[in-house]
Amino acid sequence: MKTQTRAVVIGGGIAGCSTLYHLTQEGWTDVVLVERDELTSGTTWHSAAQVTNFGMNQTMVGLKTHSINLYQDLRDDPDYPVQYNHGDGGIRLANTEAQMEGYRHFASMARGMGVEFEVIDAEECARRHPLISTENLLGGLWDGNDGDIDPASLCQALARRARKAGAEVYRQTEVTGLTQLKDDSWIVHTSKGDIACEVVVNACGYRVNEVGAMMGVHHPVMSMEHQYFVTEDIPGIVEAGHRMPLLRCPISDYYCRQEKQGLLLGFYEQDCRTWGMDGIDPKFTNDLCPDDLDRITDVLEGAFERMPALMEVGIKNVVNGPITYTIDGAPLVGPIPGKRNAFCIIGLRAGLGEGGGHGWLLAQQIVHGEACYDTWVIDPRRFTGHTNVELTALKAIEDYQNEFRFHFPNEHRPAGRDAKTTPLTPVLAAEGAEFTVVNGWERVEFMKPSPDFHVTPSFKFDEAFDVVGEEVAAVQNAVGIAEVNGFNRFELTGADRHSFLDRMFCGRVTQKDGRVGLGYLLNHHGCIKGEATVANLPASDRGPARTWYGSAAAAEFHDMDWLQSHLRADEDVQIRSLTNDQTILVVAGPKARDVMQAVSRADWSREAFPWLSVRECFVGFAPATVLGVSFSGELAYEIHVPNANLYSAYKALRAAGVAHGMRMFGAKAVDSMRMEKGFLHWKADLMTEFDPFETGLDRFVRLDKDFVGKPALEARVAAGKTAQLVCLDLDSTDAAAHGGASVMDGDRVVGTVTSGDWGYRVGRNLAYAFVKPDFASLGTAFEVDVLGHRVPATVVPMGVYDPDYARMRS
Ligand SMILES: Cc1cc2nc3c(=O)[nH]c(=O)nc-3n(C[C@H](O)[C@H](O)[C@H](O)COP(=O)(O)OP(=O)(O)OC[C@H]3O[C@@H](n4cnc5c(N)ncnc54)[C@H](O)[C@@H]3O)c2cc1C
Repeated sequence: MKTQTRAVVIGGGIAGCSTLYHLTQEGWTDVVLVERDELTSGTTWHSAAQVTNFGMNQTMVGLKTHSINLYQDLRDDPDYPVQYNHGDGGIRLANTEAQMEGYRHFASMARGMGVEFEVIDAEECARRHPLISTENLLGGLWDGNDGDIDPASLCQALARRARKAGAEVYRQTEVTGLTQLKDDSWIVHTSKGDIACEVVVNACGYRVNEVGAMMGVHHPVMSMEHQYFVTEDIPGIVEAGHRMPLLRCPISDYYCRQEKQGLLLGFYEQDCRTWGMDGIDPKFTNDLCPDDLDRITDVLEGAFERMPALMEVGIKNVVNGPITYTIDGAPLVGPIPGKRNAFCIIGLRAGLGEGGGHGWLLAQQIVHGEACYDTWVIDPRRFTGHTNVELTALKAIEDYQNEFRFHFPNEHRPAGRDAKTTPLTPVLAAEGAEFTVVNGWERVEFMKPSPDFHVTPSFKFDEAFDVVGEEVAAVQNAVGIAEVNGFNRFELTGADRHSFLDRMFCGRVTQKDGRVGLGYLLNHHGCIKGEATVANLPASDRGPARTWYGSAAAAEFHDMDWLQSHLRADEDVQIRSLTNDQTILVVAGPKARDVMQAVSRADWSREAFPWLSVRECFVGFAPATVLGVSFSGELAYEIHVPNANLYSAYKALRAAGVAHGMRMFGAKAVDSMRMEKGFLHWKADLMTEFDPFETGLDRFVRLDKDFVGKPALEARVAAGKTAQLVCLDLDSTDAAAHGGASVMDGDRVVGTVTSGDWGYRVGRNLAYAFVKPDFASLGTAFEVDVLGHRVPATVVPMGVYDPDYARMRS
């Protein structure tokens, strides 16, 4: 066994084997996989092993396409062919129009990744799957690439190819401990000796937290028991003369594929069970949980009704095994938060279908620092400190119970709510707030006009459309107040903080005390890594001279990792997170200055406190730090208040607002207004796939100074743009264009929508999209596929509302 290598991958299921193989493909051949038992002896060996192309965002679709292409290549390998039934096809069923709409959106989104889904009616579903009835069925989404694969030979084939490229695989070798050295390299302690390495990868399936504990980390991953059974032969299958497509049923929560001449049916019962919460028997290997078919009777009835042929045949065997879930259903693939040179590929609940792609994207991140797609949707840092065992279990159960019921854009599910609140949350709830969840934080979405008001889950404009419009009108014509909680806020102190930030930002960001600036951080590929608002505060009785770095609510771990990893040992910079200590109250609208003047003794005139200023003051008797910035495009103040004083600041502002008709506004109003202003959202419009010029941020780049990512950016500039972010005006009043929707020139996809929303102040349906450069000129006309409808769209200027910024500077 080697005692020194570049990377040690821990775990020999599909996750580990795929990572090992892809590391060799990305150029790291001195790599090792360590498996406590035999390859696939965790969950992988008993997987139903269906491979689908469906995903709810382009990254998932893209990585699954990679799996499918790779598995076809392995199937066709004459030396070691893998059994892969590619192309049986598959149907996701639907019995509501809203589900069908969702499928139309996902079909539009997948087209941008070169994948064609079809939305078909009930009769066509039954034609393609002759065993199903059309009772209570509207139709479904057809995915022609669906199939299934033999998990054991898949993993062996990947390991074999990796070995051929130079990797080594150590079976019957348990990792017993991990030690990180001062230079951030690792010693992996195993039952057969130590291995020193640069990088470790946790690919331990349901034992993820045993290995996590070895490095002092708890991952938000939970196992659920999951059952399927295989039937005896079904005559209808033999008679059909072709293989049965896969089925996914959100109506009765089961999936189904052909197994020999029978069917394999897997169940997501409501009476589901977590597994291994109190520890896992070390001897549980190549093992299963006891069968418990009583639990699935509710689901089984639905399956019988859909496929009456099932009632005529017996069950050959039952499998009940642990399957891992995370808080939002997507896996954790990428850097482990707070650790150096440590990665994970865990929480895979569809690891056979996705594993090929996840290993590919992870290997790219390890070797090149970034993958070809933006990987935020699977980034382990997307959750921050609130993700304990209890919350993970609650969300895992909810997700399991809703396995095939995708989230609608306006749907916020009930489990694990109130994980992160502020002292204002109950106050706002009592005032009628409807909340959305942002990284665990309860954030006001809009104020309900009556206690029983609710919206129907939908991709279209919903019942809250006019309610949000009224909130926007209040902000435009008088004054509004909003609570923005969870906003990420670091405090940087030390003599070198300005030079450090200057290196991190691709533009020049103000270093003047009392001033605020906006900057963009690039990765080493010259593409967008982050966006931050910087506010410089002079020394005061509240602390030494310091700079606040503010970014998106979910960015805390991500940005901290990025900043810390670029700090030089000799730099005098200290970074402290204040994210959980303070909350923002935004006061916005033409009367905002009057409100500030009434609650705070400072001079709030335009001359004394112009746009992009920051100062410390009191709001009522609450200590506050106020920034003159605006995301709405109206005159606005961002008032940062310690949570202990939040309620008192709120009361003072509300009291001062009465004279001006102040209204609460929520996240929906904010989103609408920022679309009208051309303001961007991190990880919707700001992505690692595009550079700042492609993103239209030219004015925030200064190529006459040094910064992280500059050489790569210069190379990209020389190569020419691949895309351009533009604003679109859609000729429709029905629905927003949701992120992922395809921009079409005839039958050709020429772009992808990143965000869309109604602009109430301009009365237009707006969207942002990355389009091919030839389609970026103002006035260019094409169509956007919105929920299956070709909607005419025109390129309009970014920031259609108050383009001179007169209102926010007033
Ligand atoms: C019943 C069932 C049906 C499923 N059906 C499908 C499906 O149809 N399609 C699909 O895509 N997915 C399906 N899945 C999910 C899929 O099987 C899993 O997502 C996938 O197998 C997980 O692979 P993994 O490599 O992450 O974990 P595992 O396969 O569990 O591998 C982890 C490995 O790590 C090793 N390990 C753990 N601790 C250590 C240590 N300390 N030292 C060394 N090695 C260690 C283990 O021995 C194990 O081999 C199903 C799951 C179940 C339970």
